[in-house]
Parts: sequence; structure tokens; C-alpha cells
Amino acid sequence: MASAMLLPGAATLGVMGGGQLGRMFVHAAQSLGFRTVVLDPDADSPAGLVAHEHVQSDYLDPAGLARLSAVCDAITTEFENVPATALTQLAASRAVAPAGSAVAVCQDRADEKAHFKASGVACAPHAVIRSAAELAFVPDSLLPGILKTARMGYDGKGQIRVRDAAELAAGFAALKGVPCVLEQMLPLQLELSVIVARGADGAIVNFPVQQNLHRDGILAVTEVPAPAVSAELQAEAVASAGRIAASMGYVGVLCVEFFLLQDGRLVVNEMAPRPHNSGHYTMNGCDVSQFELQVRAMAGLPLPQPRLHSPTLMLNLLGDLWFDAAGQERTPVWDQVLALPGTHLHLYGKQSARPGRKMGHLNITAASAEAARDVAQRAARLLGLPASW
Ligand code: ATP
Ligand code: MG
Repeated sequence: MASAMLLPGAATLGVMGGGQLGRMFVHAAQSLGFRTVVLDPDADSPAGLVAHEHVQSDYLDPAGLARLSAVCDAITTEFENVPATALTQLAASRAVAPAGSAVAVCQDRADEKAHFKASGVACAPHAVIRSAAELAFVPDSLLPGILKTARMGYDGKGQIRVRDAAELAAGFAALKGVPCVLEQMLPLQLELSVIVARGADGAIVNFPVQQNLHRDGILAVTEVPAPAVSAELQAEAVASAGRIAASMGYVGVLCVEFFLLQDGRLVVNEMAPRPHNSGHYTMNGCDVSQFELQVRAMAGLPLPQPRLHSPTLMLNLLGDLWFDAAGQERTPVWDQVLALPGTHLHLYGKQSARPGRKMGHLNITAASAEAARDVAQRAARLLGLPASW
């Protein structure tokens, strides 16, 4: 169902999924005066704990979906692996953004790459491998490469680096023969991402380009303005992200990840149909956050062009920080970190820390990029994170 404009203070917004992205969506919606509902199977989900109502059910449970559509005026999602069919079902009676069809494209790396091509945006040379028989047809030029499951990958999970045909066959078997995409291993200079928001009327706005550093396949640091990306390349990334959104009639917040290759070419990696970890800096560095734009887009409210008001760095806070060298659980030295100027701590309210688990993030804003980086490095040292990047 198409959305009429939902005015702040007078409507209820729902979100499929109760993780940290859902929690920050709920906070943004509540600060605009909306009622909020979260659907998530977990009794302790970060977003369910802070919403007005938590529908505790499976994503495909008809009773849960019926409750969500009964109480919400509009519904969104906080993760791309929510069953697209559930979104399509909800859309029969309620405004849903992004659409199930758009989320479905983002769920499958093969479809996603076909969409990039159709949008005129270059991605990594690749082959889709749906069965062991197809291994024989993979061109040598794609090796060495990265074999990725077509579906359900995140934080580098479901990926195997392969050097030759024998490793490729072994890797495909190790991934249990599920449909995969083999991508050529590209010589990366750095990684960046762009977040755009598109309204039902087709208007598109964007946040500035983020430069991202990953460690062990997980985002570690985001820096804005991107220190090593030229203005021309930034404009190209923003234009490409806009085309990718527009060519699927997308409504909502979309993050597009890019690689900058050593030869200076820009190549799209993947996209997420929602706010993104690399956009968390917008909560403190911009005059409107990615979560507020998600709220505005689904409510049919105006989408102003966001403005970066302070150079900002984001440090991801993984569960590893909650353990000392001897493996004993500890509380990170928040008091010392918060004594540094321009530090903004966001913890997701997760009940227990595990290595690699996203527990929160720290945004550092300052009057200059140099000052933000200096404080971020001091904070990293206090927390026991690598302090040079
Ligand atoms: P997430 O959803 O957390 O962003 P993911 O599991 O979907 O991650 P990708 O973004 O596909 O995984 O890859 C994870 C990281 O692996 C990339 O950020 C990049 O550092 C590296 N990588 C992926 N594909 C390639 C490639 N073709 N060439 C070189 N490096 C790559
Ligand atoms: Mg990625």
C-alpha cells in the first residue's frame, strides 16, 4: 500500500528485526513522537527492549505479522535477511519501505550484481556458481578470488579466499554446495560507502562519503570526510549510489559499499537496504542521522539534504573489549574515554559480550579532521584497540 504522509506524534511505526539498527531506529522515531513496535523472536532484543511494543514472534509467523500490521501505520526492516515474503505480505495492508522486492535483490549477491550492472555501475568481475558441475566453466581470470555464498553472508562470514581451481572446488564443498558467487580478488586501495535516502516521490539525498577500515572482515573505523578519496571520486560514488537506488524505485535508506582500487577505479561491492554500521557517525556528525532519514522516508515526510557539521570518526566497539588479556570479563574504561572531548558513546544494551559481537560504537567529533583523529587514537589506546590506521 502506498503511504500517505504520517505526521510526527500521531502514528505508529514498526520495524522487522530487533537488533542495534532497530534500536537506533526506534530511538529516532520516538524522538519525533512516533509510537514504535518491534517484531523479533528474541525476548531480550536490543530494539524490543526500548520500543513501545515488542511483538515476540518469528518473522514468518502469521499471528505476529497480523499484530504488527494491525498496530502500525508503516513498517520498515532493520536487516536484509528478513524474509522478503513477509514484507510483501505486510505491504498488502500497510505502507512498507523498502519494498520486499528491493530487499530480495539485496539478499542475493548474484541478483545484486545483476542490478549493479543494469544500473550502469561497475562491480568486481565474477561468476555465479550454482552447482559443482558449473565449477568447470569458471574462467581462470577470476582466480585468485573470493568465494561468497550468494545468500546470508555478513561480517565476512560465508566467504573463502581461493587461489586456484582445486581450492575453489574445496571451498565450494566447504560452503556445502549452496549457490555462490566467485569474485576476482581485487587490489584494494581503500573501502568507502555512501548512504542515500530516497522518498516515494523519487527525491534523493545523500550523506557524505565514508572511508571505512575493516579488521578481520568486520568494520572497525569510519572516517568522514573521507581523507583519501578525491572530490571527483566522491561525486562518482554518490551518483552511482543514487542510480542504484533510483533504478529499483527504492524508498528508504540505502547503503552502497565501494572499493577504490589501486589503479584509482571505483567498483561497487554490495548494498544494504537499511541504515548501515558505516553510517553511525551521522548520529553525531550530521544535522540529521541516517535513522531519522529512515523514519522520514517511511513516513513520507520531507527528506532534507543532510549536512556534516563536524569531522567525525567512528570506532566500532566489539565484544572483545569486554575481556582482558587473561580472558577475564571487564568493563571498558568508559570514564576515561568520556573524559576526552567530543566523544559520544552508543551502547546497544546487549545482555552479554562475545568476541566479534557488535556491542556499540564511539563517535568522535571535533572542529578539525586532525583533532578528531587525534582524540580517536587516544580513545583507541585507552580501550586497547589498534591506535594507528
Ligand atoms: P558486511 O555485510 O559486513 O559488509 P560481507 O560479509 O557481506 O560484509 P563483503 O563486504 O562482501 O562481506 O566482504 C567483506 C570484506 O572482504 C570487504 O569489506 C573487503 O575488505 C574484502 N573483500 C570482499 N570482496 C573482495 C574482493 N573481490 N576483492 C578484494 N577484497 C574483497
Ligand atoms: Mg560488506
